Amino acid sequence: MRVLVVEDEKKTASFVRKALQAEGFAVDVCHDGEAALAAAAATPFDVLVLDIMLPGRDGLSVLRQLRERKSTTPVLLLSARGEVNERVEGLNSGADDYLPKPFELAELVARVRALTRRSTENKLTTLRVADLTLDTLTHKAQRGGATIELTVREYRLLEFLMRSAGRPCGRMMILEKVWDYDFDPGTNLVDVYIRRVREKIDAGFEPKLLYTVRGSGYILKEAQ
Ligand code: CA
Repeated sequence: MRVLVVEDEKKTASFVRKALQAEGFAVDVCHDGEAALAAAAATPFDVLVLDIMLPGRDGLSVLRQLRERKSTTPVLLLSARGEVNERVEGLNSGADDYLPKPFELAELVARVRALTRRSTENKLTTLRVADLTLDTLTHKAQRGGATIELTVREYRLLEFLMRSAGRPCGRMMILEKVWDYDFDPGTNLVDVYIRRVREKIDAGFEPKLLYTVRGSGYILKEAQ
């Protein structure tokens, strides 16, 4: 679990870093908003602890920029006493929680832990390739804001392809993983289902995500 702490007051940043490290988190620290955006773009963090008052680009601006970039990393805002409007604006701009200063370190650690749990749950239940998402709980796929209904077998095929995204999947491997066959039934079963799934996830959308790998099988990937 990796946490990015964005706080210009060096003493506070250092206390927070030590408290989180003591609880087993990997912690990076930035002292201003621009550095925070660069760090968040370079490294996937599980949680951001983001102070509102920062020199230059403030915490709210960092938050809005992150959400504009479609980052779903949970954000815990730190606000000084009296920054009630900023707090409300922060929550409206996509912050997940806030903590008014001064705070107890134990409270901060508890909030961060709660957010990492949420982050882990999201990771486990939602698969994503480009703008295609698949919810492994409801078995619903979405692309470009449209919900895509899948049959049980189509769901299993798409889940397998998405978990293998970027790697070619041979027909035999697909038969094993999606149909539990350990033999080749000598039919075009896989190709038929691939066609159905392709029709649902790619027809009418750009860029295409599901490709045929000549002679070997299929690959789901983001266009280069
Ligand atoms: Ca500050």
